[in-house]
Amino acid sequence: MQIIKSSKAQYEYEIHALVKSFYPAWDVKILTPDSVIKDRKILETPPVMELKFLDDHVEFIVHDGLHNKSNSYTWWNTDQTESDEYKNAFGRFLYTSLQEETGISLPWGNLTGVRPTKLIMGMLEHGESEQEIAAFLREKHFVSEEKIDLGIEIAQRERKILSTLHYEDGYSLYVGIPFCPTTCLYCSFTSYPIGAWKERVPDYLTALEKEMETAAQLYRGKILDTVYIGGGTPTSLSAGEIDRLITSLKKYFDFSTVQEFTVEAGRADSITDEKLKVMRRHGVTRISVNPQTMKESTLKLIGRQHTVRQVADAFHMTRKAGFDNINMDIILGLPGEDKEDVRSTIESILVLAPESLTVHSLAVKRAAGLGRWIEEHGITAYNNTEEMMQIAALGADAMGMAPYYLYRQKNMSGNFENVGYAVDGRYGIYNILIMEEKQTILALGAGSITKKVTRTTMADGRENILIERCENVKEVAQYIERIDEMIERKRRLFEEM
Ligand code: SF4
Repeated sequence: MQIIKSSKAQYEYEIHALVKSFYPAWDVKILTPDSVIKDRKILETPPVMELKFLDDHVEFIVHDGLHNKSNSYTWWNTDQTESDEYKNAFGRFLYTSLQEETGISLPWGNLTGVRPTKLIMGMLEHGESEQEIAAFLREKHFVSEEKIDLGIEIAQRERKILSTLHYEDGYSLYVGIPFCPTTCLYCSFTSYPIGAWKERVPDYLTALEKEMETAAQLYRGKILDTVYIGGGTPTSLSAGEIDRLITSLKKYFDFSTVQEFTVEAGRADSITDEKLKVMRRHGVTRISVNPQTMKESTLKLIGRQHTVRQVADAFHMTRKAGFDNINMDIILGLPGEDKEDVRSTIESILVLAPESLTVHSLAVKRAAGLGRWIEEHGITAYNNTEEMMQIAALGADAMGMAPYYLYRQKNMSGNFENVGYAVDGRYGIYNILIMEEKQTILALGAGSITKKVTRTTMADGRENILIERCENVKEVAQYIERIDEMIERKRRLFEEM
C-alpha cells in the first residue's frame, strides 16, 4: 500500500484519482487529519508523497525511499477559500507536478471523471464554440489534441442522435437480468451462474413483474423512448422465460413510441435460434453478441467458456434471424494480449461486419476475480496501449463506423476510455443516455439503479440538471424477498411528480 499524507481533508478524492491515474498499479491510501486509522501497519508505513497546505503555498513532496531522496514542488497561493476555482487550480498544480515527476502526460489530462463528453456537451449546449471548448480542455485540463478532437466529435454526434428523444416528457427503461452462463474473471457486475439459480428464475420474474406494474403506474403518461434489457446475460433465460419477460413488459408499458429496444445477449454460449425468434417476434431492434476477444486462449483464461467459433456461429444465427443492428463488445488490455492479438480480433470481427463495435479498456476492480488473479500471478494487466486503441479505431473505420459515445472508468488500463462506434443510424441510443444523464432511466431488477432527471433553467440561462438515484439491492434472493421495499423506494423517488 502506498501512503499519501495530506494536511487538508478536503481534496482526498482529487488526490486519489490523480495519483491513481499516474500510478495505476498502486494501492493508494490517503491519510488526512480526518482519517481514522486503527491499523498500525498503515500508521507506521512511511508516506510516498506528502501534501502540505500552508498559509501562502502548497508543498507537494515525493519521497524516493529507494534512493533516499525527495523531490519537492511548490504552488504559491494565498487563496484560502475552498471555491471550485481553488479546487481546479489545485488539480492543475498536482497534475503538472506529477507530470514532471513521472515524465508522463495523460491523454485526458487532469480530467478524472467518467463522463468527459458530458462536460463538452454542456458547453456546446451553452453556445460555446468548438474552438473555445478546445482551448478550455487544453489550457485548464491538459487534454491531448487527439482526445479533444475525439471528445468534440462524439459530443456533436450525440447531440444529433439525441435530438429525437423526449427529454422532458419521456424516459427510458432498463431491466436487469443478473444471470450468466458462468462468471467471467473480470466481472464486476451483478451476475449469478444460471446453473445454480435456474429454479429461482420464475420467482425473480414474478418479483420483476411486481416492480414493473408499479413503475409503469408511476410513469404513466410519459413517452417511452428506449428499452434496454441487460445484466448479466439476459439470454441466460430460456426462450419461454424471455417470452414471459417481454410479454409482461409490454403488458405494463406502452411500447408504441419506443425508438430502440436492445437485448444484451452478450455471451455466445447463451444464444439459441429459439430465443432469437422470440426476441424478433417481440420487436427487439438491437442485440449484442460480445466476444471480448477472438483469441481462444484468452477466452479460456477469462472464464468465458465459449469458443471463437461459437461467437461467429452465434453472430451468423443472429443475422439469419433477421437482426440488422448487431453490436459486438471487445476489451483491450486483457492479460497476455498484445497488439497482434488485438489486430487479429479486429480482423475476425471485420469478416462478421457488425453494425456497432464497443471498445473497452480493461478496468481492474479489486472485487473482481481478475484483480485477485493479477495479484496472485504477479503480472501487470495495464498493457493497453495507444497503438491497440488505434488498431481498434481503424477497424471500426474500415467497417464504416464512427465514434458515438465514450466513457471512462476508474482503474482503467492505460488511462484511456471506452468508445462505442457504429454505422450511421445504428447507434446505441441508450448507451448515450446512460453517459449523458439527459433523461430519466427507470431501472428494474436486482442491482439496477434508477436515475430521475429533473431539468430547470437557472437565472443565467444555463440548464440545471438534478439527478436523484434509487438503488435496488444486488443479491437476487434479497431482491425477491424485499421486492415491496424496492417498490416503495421507487414510489418515494417519484411521489412528487
Ligand atoms: S457475461 Fe458480463 S455480466 Fe456475465 S459474468 Fe461475464 S462480465 Fe459478468
